[in-house]
Amino acid sequence: MPADLRVAILITLAAACAACGERAPEGATLLAATRLYVSPDAEPIDDAAILIVGGKIAAAGPAKDIASGGALRLAACDGGTVTAGFQNSHVHFTEAKFAGAPARPAAELSAAMADMLNRHGFTTVLDTTSNLANTVALRERIGRGEVVGPRILTAGFALYPKNGIPIYLRDMAPDFLAMLSQPASVEEALADLQANLDGGADATKLFLMTPQGDGRYAFMQPDIALAATDETHRRGLPVLAHPTDIEGINLAIEAGVDILVHTTMGDGRTAWDAALIEQMRAKNMALVPTLMLFPYELERAGLPQRIVDAATGNAVEQVRAYAKAGGQILFGTDVGYMADYDPTEEYRLMARALTPMEILASLTTAPAARWQESSRRGRVAEGLDADLVVLEADPAADAANFAKVRCTIRAGRLTYGPPAG
Ligand SMILES: [Zn+2]
Repeated sequence: MPADLRVAILITLAAACAACGERAPEGATLLAATRLYVSPDAEPIDDAAILIVGGKIAAAGPAKDIASGGALRLAACDGGTVTAGFQNSHVHFTEAKFAGAPARPAAELSAAMADMLNRHGFTTVLDTTSNLANTVALRERIGRGEVVGPRILTAGFALYPKNGIPIYLRDMAPDFLAMLSQPASVEEALADLQANLDGGADATKLFLMTPQGDGRYAFMQPDIALAATDETHRRGLPVLAHPTDIEGINLAIEAGVDILVHTTMGDGRTAWDAALIEQMRAKNMALVPTLMLFPYELERAGLPQRIVDAATGNAVEQVRAYAKAGGQILFGTDVGYMADYDPTEEYRLMARALTPMEILASLTTAPAARWQESSRRGRVAEGLDADLVVLEADPAADAANFAKVRCTIRAGRLTYGPPAG
């Protein structure tokens, strides 16, 4: 062989694998990706690899640049499209399968977590109302490695208007209903709120107006809402609100709420005008769409398809308009309240309002930014938590592919995936 050809071959080989023959750090695990989305706003990298050491990402990039010699493999997860782990910003741990968390067999709780969250790529969740002590017990057992699940942020117990439990919660167990806070004064509200935050809650959830049936609503007193947001913000934590309708959004704006946990449902009277959207954006509010909840609820109620379609279309339009105005969107589905755990329809509905990369942002970088954790999570980059999702197909081609999860990895640990083999 002529010497110049031999040199050319050597150069080609070197380009194909500049570093992959080098030893990986001790205890490293390698994940190979057909395509890697480092973040929603960066060009994807094809034929990539991610190196995980001690629950963190040690390296991520083109496979040829990653020192992978001797690394352990997650072979069953290799060959998919990899993104940062997803956050579902609206879940509830209120179903019977999560009850009795301090003593319930770990395998039962892990199975419940897998079914609702792990298998859908969620590595962080925001529980927007539940029994605080039970949810904190779940979080602690996950933290100890007994239960396999996501990182849990919780609002614990919400505050409701006086005599204002919403009609749709009245079927809950009486002992749960008896624990719900319906303060009559600022003092009562602050006592309940402080007990909730001192008990481990990461946010305050306010029900500013609640349906009572026959078109009637109960309203939280404005001084109670303001005092609750002031105290929560004083602790550096966010306030969530369930808006119900445009009137509820206005109350949330006045009270200084940070995150609206739903769009609003209606029949054409709920279009959000430019002035409302600008006020929300000026307050730096985040919006959790929960779009598939509307067809789920309205179809259960037996409403005609044209009404279901109109209400859903309105909610889609709210998301589109808010994102276009620069408002922050946080992915969320209300699973735990909603029994349908499959997020495919949520992605399909979101794709009517957002690009696939905007949806990826709502799952990754936007929640990381909202919780001031962008330096810790939300992207696939060196030094960040090894929270990863492996998808069977590229979500840029079809947003429904966000639901086709092959593996979920939380802090370097496989929380969902095919059996090894
Ligand atoms: Zn909910």
